[in-house]
Amino acid sequence: MKKKYAAEPYRIKVIEHIRQTTKEERIKILKNAGYNPFSLRSEDVYIDLLTDSGTSAMSQEQWSALMIGDEAYAGSRSFYRLESVVKNITNYQYFIPAHQGRGAEQVFLPQLVTKKGMYYISNIHFDTTRSHVELAGARAIDCVIDDCFDLQTYHPFKGNFCLNKLEKTILDKGKENIAGIIMTITNNSAGGQPVSMENMRQVSEMAKKYGITTIIDGARYAENAFFIKEREEGYQDMDIIDIAREAFSYADVLLMSAKKDGLVNMGGFIAIKDHEELYNKCRTYIVPMEGFPTYGGMNGRDMDALAVGLMEALDENYLRHRIDQVRYLGDRLREAGVPVQYPIGGHAVFVDCKSIAPHIPYDQFPAQSVTNAIYIEAGVRAVEIGSLLLGRDPDTHENIQSEMELMRLTIPRRVYTYRHLDVVADAVIHVFEHRSELKGLAFVYEPPILRHFTAVFKPIDSL
Ligand SMILES: *Cc1c(COP(=O)(O)O)cnc(C)c1O
Repeated sequence: MKKKYAAEPYRIKVIEHIRQTTKEERIKILKNAGYNPFSLRSEDVYIDLLTDSGTSAMSQEQWSALMIGDEAYAGSRSFYRLESVVKNITNYQYFIPAHQGRGAEQVFLPQLVTKKGMYYISNIHFDTTRSHVELAGARAIDCVIDDCFDLQTYHPFKGNFCLNKLEKTILDKGKENIAGIIMTITNNSAGGQPVSMENMRQVSEMAKKYGITTIIDGARYAENAFFIKEREEGYQDMDIIDIAREAFSYADVLLMSAKKDGLVNMGGFIAIKDHEELYNKCRTYIVPMEGFPTYGGMNGRDMDALAVGLMEALDENYLRHRIDQVRYLGDRLREAGVPVQYPIGGHAVFVDCKSIAPHIPYDQFPAQSVTNAIYIEAGVRAVEIGSLLLGRDPDTHENIQSEMELMRLTIPRRVYTYRHLDVVADAVIHVFEHRSELKGLAFVYEPPILRHFTAVFKPIDSL
């Protein structure tokens, strides 16, 4: 196991104070928040690992770029600056901004759903992508490799498509019923696991064979390119931007949430290789949904900050440090015997709470219990990815049991130091060592949909 971790390739110019509370205070705060970290106020959180989305720190160059934003409704200079950066990175002809990734999804995904009974196929659809596929009247099918569900064994590209499952699905459903194939890079729902270039090339060849449009859901495409450079034969001497360009060459469309590898707090876009008719459809549809096609829901100044952020995110030194930070946290936990997904993905460490708290049944939410315990221990906010998130069966109304009960520790970009991650690791290790004391949770209030966001719980004292 590689033990070296890259030091910060930046120094700190502006700081944001974060409040440290006592354990007694946190016990009260969490109780008042109904034992649900989503209900915590940010000021009561010391280290916030809820998400890496929109939580990046911007550079001085990005803050400067905000000042030259052009807020013209139509034809803003900021639009043209961002367009030229996106075209340079993708080699695509067409570009439309959107307010964030799901804005791009709601405009683009319905365009390929031309009749009833159609399907999108992905390695794994991200949640909002799946929602927009369904809202567009299609169904979402995932065809990831089986290794993805093995938390222990090393595989360099656990985010890959299973080509057999993919081809079987195309043949089963009929190629004319496949709206598109969505390559999610890195594979967010699989723990930020990367997808290999070879896999993308093979998916693209299969799509061509059956005449199906390919889409890259590229929220973390730069992190994916870095993994390819590190792990895939033949890419060691290639620049990150050229690896990204090769990846984009295997798709027809890029849907981007700029809140991740765009290094901005809000933003997104659609880029289309050369399909003019598809571009025209999106350009028409975006007006009522997101805004006029030269701003699509974004401020001019934010388009300028994104134009700078997209290039910064392709810097190899930045990426090495970014990925090393995540790996550092994962390695510290592994060394202490805490079960985590291995290898560590690009944006988060996933802690296996099913094996930490086997005494808590799935419908008392073991991963939520661990998440609450690390908040009390050190003021660290993580997020449950398990049976709580999965919800109830719409027909039987029973709690669905998730395959895995995970706690996600998501690392924002350029925000925390290795010492912060030590605080997180120490807290998780402490909770792990006292795991027999963890208690299950019962609902005091359960919302009918998306229950994890606003649910209220109480700890179950006797099991
Ligand atoms: C975040 C994300 C989205 C949705 O983007 P938002 O900017 O949050 O709307 C879509 N796909 C993937 C893979 C993501 O990570």
